[in-house]
Amino acid sequence: MTCIIAIANQKGGVAKTTTAINLGTGVAAEGKRVLLIDLDPQGNATTGSGIDKSEADAGVYDVLTESAIIRAVRVISPTSGYDVLTANQHLAGAEVELVGVNGRETILKRALESVTDDYDFVFIDCPPALSLLTINGLTAANYVIIPMQCEYYALEGLTDLVDTIKRIKSYLNPDLEIGGLVRTMFDGRSSLSQQVSDQLDTHFGDKLFKTVIPRNVRVAEAPSYGLPVLVYDKMSKGAIAYRSLSTEFLTRFT
Ligand code: ADP
Ligand code: MG
Repeated sequence: MTCIIAIANQKGGVAKTTTAINLGTGVAAEGKRVLLIDLDPQGNATTGSGIDKSEADAGVYDVLTESAIIRAVRVISPTSGYDVLTANQHLAGAEVELVGVNGRETILKRALESVTDDYDFVFIDCPPALSLLTINGLTAANYVIIPMQCEYYALEGLTDLVDTIKRIKSYLNPDLEIGGLVRTMFDGRSSLSQQVSDQLDTHFGDKLFKTVIPRNVRVAEAPSYGLPVLVYDKMSKGAIAYRSLSTEFLTRFT
């Protein structure tokens, strides 16, 4: 059975893409077959997986507009050990183009049915909005993983996201569950971070991954080389943390 994981948070810059790339890489390194779907028009998961966006002429847009099947447009990441369904410049228009299309919320879910035998895990990197693209991601998924920066406004946004997840669960995808929350870019010296982290622990208990991803400059540098930090600098604090997250993830999901 393929396990499909949406990585979502409507806030930008909370490390959704970084988590998608490095969890994907870490899980693939353990011998699992992984597909990463870049559902953000910015295409950061595509470039961060070592793929030139301008050369990725077909990708998730073509799947969403039903002009291509996943098997025809997926590409192999040269750096990360997984396959990628790329985002290209057209994806920004998909939102508008799909208005009026019947079943537009379930296109990705239906498209994935044809490749479920090919993968153990599919990670979907969602855009920073509760948009039709994100809804497609959440409707296709079995679980959602929420990366969180431990700062004051983080908790406010979380309520909206949890409401959206509940709505999608009741109308579109009864199987959807919160698979976990990940504390990212964590600054252990900040007492606010510590307080927010404690609140997350109280509210989410076992759903909160024990692994905490620290703020680490090597993590920020890696994408400019088209590499996951797990490959760019294996022994950096960021890579060690993402390896540990991958192990914890596999314990939870296999
Ligand atoms: P999102 O996909 O949620 O918008 P990104 O994964 O693109 O977030 O991360 C936002 C920025 O923060 C990027 O420049 C990324 O390289 C950087 N970043 C992510 N995680 C870390 C970390 N642990 N330490 C330092 N910088 C990080
Ligand atoms: Mg992103």
